[in-house]
Amino acid sequence: MLVVHPERCTACRLCELACTFHQDGVFHPLKARLTVGIFPEDDVFVPIICEQCEVAACQEACPSGAITRNLETGALEVNTSRCVGCRMCVMACPFGTMVHVDVDGKMQKCDLCKGDPQCVAVCPWGALEYVEPNDAALARRREVARRLAGVLKGVRV
Ligand code: SF4
Ligand code: SF4
Repeated sequence: MLVVHPERCTACRLCELACTFHQDGVFHPLKARLTVGIFPEDDVFVPIICEQCEVAACQEACPSGAITRNLETGALEVNTSRCVGCRMCVMACPFGTMVHVDVDGKMQKCDLCKGDPQCVAVCPWGALEYVEPNDAALARRREVARRLAGVLKGVRV
């Protein structure tokens, strides 16, 4: 799965371009399966990615069973032949990572480029990483611990 290191992101948005070029053959950030959140006032840039949730709201909301998990990569994928374009998945996803791509109203999402995510390959700063699920969980715990330590330092008397 993907792990984000926001402190390394420079908001160059190459990841968005690499994503759509790989998936759709065009450079079109609005169609990208990830979006870089840009907060210039705080000097913070955060790539927002699909979490490939264990219990996925997009999958549960889909009335036609069009979203299924690829057991090799762990990614949830959209079967466009079953997608009816109702956009229930868009409303359900808490991260806003379902995207509308096709002219026929079908939805799409990050499929981890079938195990070779191009956003990771293109990022010059290492802000995106592709790791095994257990390593990802460990990386998240470390990140939370690091932030917590920063907060505790701020309140120490
Ligand atoms: S390619 Fe890397 S540095 Fe550039 S916006 Fe994406 S995550 Fe950030
Ligand atoms: S699209 Fe949203 S709900 Fe579905 S797996 Fe990705 S983050 Fe989770």
